[in-house]
Amino acid sequence: MTATTAPRLTNLLGMSRAEMEALFLSIGEKKFRAAQVMKWIHIEGCDDFAAMTNLSKALRARLAEVAEIRGPGVVYEGSSSDGTRKWVLEVEDGSYVETVLIPADNGKRRTLCVSSQVGCSLDCSFCSTGKQGFQRNLTAAEIIGQVWVAQRSVGPRRDTANRPVTNVVMMGMGEPLMNYDNVVPAMKLMLDDDGYGLSKRRVTLSTSGVVPMLDKLGDELDVSLAISLHAANDELRNKLVPLNRKYNIRSLLDACHRYLAKCHDTRMVTIEYTVIKDVNDQQEHAEELATLLEELPCKINLIPFNPFPHSGYEKPSRNQLMRFQQWLYELGYTAPIRTTRGDDIDAACGQLVGRVKDRTRRHERYIQSIQIDAD
Ligand code: SAH
Ligand code: SF4
Repeated sequence: MTATTAPRLTNLLGMSRAEMEALFLSIGEKKFRAAQVMKWIHIEGCDDFAAMTNLSKALRARLAEVAEIRGPGVVYEGSSSDGTRKWVLEVEDGSYVETVLIPADNGKRRTLCVSSQVGCSLDCSFCSTGKQGFQRNLTAAEIIGQVWVAQRSVGPRRDTANRPVTNVVMMGMGEPLMNYDNVVPAMKLMLDDDGYGLSKRRVTLSTSGVVPMLDKLGDELDVSLAISLHAANDELRNKLVPLNRKYNIRSLLDACHRYLAKCHDTRMVTIEYTVIKDVNDQQEHAEELATLLEELPCKINLIPFNPFPHSGYEKPSRNQLMRFQQWLYELGYTAPIRTTRGDDIDAACGQLVGRVKDRTRRHERYIQSIQIDAD
């Protein structure tokens, strides 16, 4: 006897506008239904066709037969006294990803840090995600699902003056440009007016430098760009970011220039520089960095290294970090230090995820420091 399984329903959550329009045409409906349903999903946070009252009852019933709106499961949700909120999400195969919403500017800015992969294959020597290896790419639904969950939890996006999520940074787990085919559609939904309606300046992709994919991205989107540089010479960067052996600093900076040239407005690249004690925190490093970046329209963000067991690296002292910042200042760069946020929920969150699975707990050691100063 052969077991029969029910046909899998199509998940509309990660579907692009074009895909959704095609779906409606395929069931004999007009294309504009796609915009209506997108609004329900992404603006209202709705996952129940029955509630979509501007669709006929017959269409609602038909949709429920062929499709579903399935977001990641929320395993843990917590908020800290400084207003940082976190969600630990369970995705399709039982893996976990963490999404963090960081308030800034007296509540005017709420930046969501989104993951693109479970683990990462690029193995940067100072990164706990890199050390855990690569498990898999997240689907577009799982990527946009992180924004969907956060927004649902904070409130619907009807009032554009008071958005639950004002900025997104692709700085969670994983290398977004190694999951291009899912990251780009998800980012398009972040920008779409019937999606999350964010301006391209408020959506940032952070990359360790997958040069060919950066060129491809520039042909399709002009979101804000953050480059994880961390070293101003190839010898040191080869050790910190092994991908540098394939795409060296010069080729990466050239790609940044090409990207900026394709942007439809004046734009700067954010250079992320994780400051590691005695590795890249000396005056000579500041000087080398300033010289290297002379030609590139950019701002530098300093991230104090977040230690994790057996990393072999240490975080710089507060004084050393300030000295490094001062050297850069004297060389013409105002380089903000990204401060640690949400400390008081880390323990609870870490314990919980630790009980479920160790991977996410290690990742959170650096995710907690993320606070990009995007517009
Ligand atoms: N893969 C992408 C995006 C995710 S990492 C990238 O590398 O850009 C997000 C940021 O956190 C990167 O700048 C990364 O270099 C930094 N980071 C990783 N591990 C860190 C650690 N232990 N301490 C401080 N920053 C870290
Ligand atoms: Fe991957 Fe980014 Fe970590 Fe490097 S820093 S291992 S690219 S997640």
